[in-house]
Amino acid sequence: MLEVVEIPVTPFQQNCTLLICAETNKAAVCDCGDAKPVLAEIAARGVTVEQILATHGHLDHIGGTAELQKALGVPFLFPEEDDFWRIALPEQAAAYGFPPIEVPEPDGHLVHGQLVQIGTVKLEVRHCPGHTPGHVVFYDPETGTLIAGDVIFQGSVGRTDFPRGSWPELESSIKEQIYTLPAETRIHCGHGPTTTVGAEAASNPFVRA
Ligand SMILES: [Zn+2]
Repeated sequence: MLEVVEIPVTPFQQNCTLLICAETNKAAVCDCGDAKPVLAEIAARGVTVEQILATHGHLDHIGGTAELQKALGVPFLFPEEDDFWRIALPEQAAAYGFPPIEVPEPDGHLVHGQLVQIGTVKLEVRHCPGHTPGHVVFYDPETGTLIAGDVIFQGSVGRTDFPRGSWPELESSIKEQIYTLPAETRIHCGHGPTTTVGAEAASNPFVRA
């Protein structure tokens, strides 16, 4: 069964998640914006991380990934359509006053419909473009859990004013890929508190079901 540990990282307080299979103690790290607090959490919990995932290519979601890859020696899976963001990581870091950051190299891609296995947990990959063109989310049907990155937040949605952002695409992603999930589905957001599909579908001021 999936257990989710949120680790807020970077000055943007991005919720990196440690995704743990409770039966096997195997784990994956999603959206590693900073490696140090994530490595500390991994050591404290004694889990075996087998892969690194990312929802999209923004600085606060992948800035610590090259360092984490080196420390753990495990594959990094990334949505290819966000490569223009990934490759521009040094420019993103400079623009926001971060120290120089190494660009992480993916070992594989994340595509819609793919299953990501963590021990006995099978996460379904859903393509949710709009905030970025390649953005993906991860859904665990067994526990009703969604790792949503910057698609939707409690009472808000992801920005669409970045290069290649799209409001119509974001709205469709939320309506077709998120609001179609069971109402009780727990949403872990890239920023801020956890919410549910039912709560956002009923009262999100930007996109309603
Ligand atoms: Zn973002």
